[in-house]
Amino acid sequence: MVELWSTSMVKKIKENDNDLMDKIVSLCKRRGFIFPGSEIYGGMAGIYDYGPVGAELKRNIKEAWRWEMFRRHEHIYEVDSSILMQRKVWEASGHTSAGFTDPLQECKLCHHRFRADHLAEAGVKQCPDCGGPLTEAKKFNLLVETHLGPVQDESSLTYLRGETTQGIYVNYANVKTATRASLPFGIGQVGKAFRNEITPGHFTYRLREFEQMEQQYFVHPDDAPKYFPYWKKERMRWYLELGINKANLRFRPHEKGELAHYAKAAEDIEYKFPFGWHEIEGIHNRGDWDLSRHSQFSGQDLSETDPKTGKKFYPYVIETSAGADRLALAFLIDAYTEIAGGRTTTTKSIKETEVVLKFDKRIAPFKIAVLPLSKKEQLTTIGQEIAANLRAQWMTDYDETQSIGKRYRRQDEIGTPYCVTVDFESLEDKAVTVRERDTMEQERIKIGELGGYFKEKLNRIK
Ligand code: ATP
Repeated sequence: MVELWSTSMVKKIKENDNDLMDKIVSLCKRRGFIFPGSEIYGGMAGIYDYGPVGAELKRNIKEAWRWEMFRRHEHIYEVDSSILMQRKVWEASGHTSAGFTDPLQECKLCHHRFRADHLAEAGVKQCPDCGGPLTEAKKFNLLVETHLGPVQDESSLTYLRGETTQGIYVNYANVKTATRASLPFGIGQVGKAFRNEITPGHFTYRLREFEQMEQQYFVHPDDAPKYFPYWKKERMRWYLELGINKANLRFRPHEKGELAHYAKAAEDIEYKFPFGWHEIEGIHNRGDWDLSRHSQFSGQDLSETDPKTGKKFYPYVIETSAGADRLALAFLIDAYTEIAGGRTTTTKSIKETEVVLKFDKRIAPFKIAVLPLSKKEQLTTIGQEIAANLRAQWMTDYDETQSIGKRYRRQDEIGTPYCVTVDFESLEDKAVTVRERDTMEQERIKIGELGGYFKEKLNRIK
């Protein structure tokens, strides 16, 4: 059987990464952001697991997206559709018909296959594995197959969804009826998607199992030219508000040959990864392709009637399609800051480079860490009580091991915005020191006032 991806290709891409990627990968493993999937069995290409702080980071990104879509915008409705759908859905979407999916090139000698766009991007004209000649680009299906039911035959074949979008189209009529929505309105969802990617790689950039955050905005065709730039602007604002450096973001319009045959317009939001500018989100005007195809394949009429002309039409879809894993990687890279010579210790001999993850407060895994200055019971009892109170409202870490300098550093490395230190003076003045991550400014706050203090600092909505 022909191999659908190649380790040497992944290795080659990896060798082009600079030091920063290695540092990020190592930090992710060491501090519990991201681990290789099934690592004790040797790992799996394109599969990663999130550890204690990584799970929180990714959840915060998804929550920030949900907040933006379903609370900040009106008339966008959430669904949580199934990963498994009728096989016909993927026929309607075009995913299983020939000539639709990503073009691959095959080596005529070793028969390894590679994504044609990746080869072109890397300027590679011969097989990266053996140097053999490559075929013309051909299209292959990237959907992950599975079987449902006790008998594994053609009739039980189905797919793990390759994108969350299709779960939105199949629920279009249900959502519209249940919410009594009328155009324009949106449907969005966060969920897993699976693709048999030919060249997974760049850590969690290209995965075979990943999460998407997609929103389909249904509009009258005449309104599409208005809503495409509107959503471009809205999505870029979201990234900037969450603290991504403006210089690391850009729009890239799709070139002619790249545009899906049904698409009217498409632009990617790209992030400047250490391995180059790459897509983190796609904004597409998909025309009436989706609802017209699903009407045709399902037999259910998903068209609308124009109130002015009385004519039938299929709504156009302006889609915003982002990936939670790619965003988590972009947020990690963007937040990563090295401070040469250190900043938390004044002892010259132990001054070394320190790492601070300058996450926006909404994205940071822990919001607060409570650190008693000593392990003495008088202090740990107060510390634990403060932590328990704060934990009721915010993700709060508690750490009483090692020196206070080392503990500050550990919190900086996972991006905790505030550290609360309990010291011997606290026994007298019933106050603690709150240290801010980026400025290292310290404030003395009464223990009884901590709740109000953090409410002001952490819950304020920009
Ligand atoms: P690419 O060209 O990188 O394969 P795409 O254009 O196929 O991406 P879309 O189908 O538009 O991607 O998916 C929307 C978003 O889903 C992407 O912007 C990305 O954030 C995320 N995504 C897609 N494929 C993957 C993957 N294999 N691993 C991680 N995230 C992905």
